[in-house]
Amino acid sequence: MLEIKNLHAEVEGKSILKGINLTINKGEVHAIMGPNGSGKSTLANVLAGRDDYEVTEGSIFFDGKDISELEPEERAGEGIFLAFQYPVEIPGVTNTTFLKEALNAQRKYRGEEELDGMEFVKMLRGKTKELGIKDDMLKRAVNVGFSGGEKKRNDILQMAVLNPKLAVLDETDSGLDIDALRIVADGVNKLRSENNAILVITHYQRLLNYIVPDQVHVLAHGEIRRSGGKELALELEEKGYADYSGEAA
Ligand code: ADP
Ligand code: MG
Ligand code: MG
Repeated sequence: MLEIKNLHAEVEGKSILKGINLTINKGEVHAIMGPNGSGKSTLANVLAGRDDYEVTEGSIFFDGKDISELEPEERAGEGIFLAFQYPVEIPGVTNTTFLKEALNAQRKYRGEEELDGMEFVKMLRGKTKELGIKDDMLKRAVNVGFSGGEKKRNDILQMAVLNPKLAVLDETDSGLDIDALRIVADGVNKLRSENNAILVITHYQRLLNYIVPDQVHVLAHGEIRRSGGKELALELEEKGYADYSGEAA
């Protein structure tokens, strides 16, 4: 589903990603771990196609198509979702309106018919019920005055509604309490299926106690230094990232 080959990227003229190779198949959950500043968020932003991140070498294939020149909205239309890309508050726009417009923009890109109000609301009700999200969250302006936990729930709801082929979750390195971790993990586990893939990016092993990955990769100094099964996360928890502190030879 996702095939990244020899990916190099820079931010503000500074080389950050230095030859990433990563293949993720349908139905798999991969975790990327690594020390602060190793390029984890840069990789997420490059996948999403953000403007400030320039690919200088290599390729990103998604469902067999080179997406490295596509705009962020086009990538969303292709089925890539970057969780926490919309933690922004949007005063005056209700969650329902926002979700409906985001979904219909993607359907339009795919040449599918837009959902009308009734169809959308029916679908949305199904998702909120599945995820245990209260309806009042839908009527509120997007993320305005939301607590940390509510924002996480809202990210998961966005993911459920947009139903991406590939979801990339970039966990910030701070401020995630156990409750927030559980919200994210429960949501991801409910949405996990044979038809999608999930890339979880985290500094902390504990998230992976709840979201059990098929593969774990260590990103350090802009390179994937090691890959393994879920046990690699436990080893990192125990040993830390000291083994990966040096620049590549
Ligand atoms: P991680 O998510 O692994 O902590 P990042 O990808 O956020 O790492 O950062 C990798 C490096 O790129 C850091 O040195 C960081 O300072 C730099 N960097 C990331 N984003 C920007 C940006 N928008 N402008 C300048 N430097 C950036
Ligand atoms: Mg960081
Ligand atoms: Mg980061």
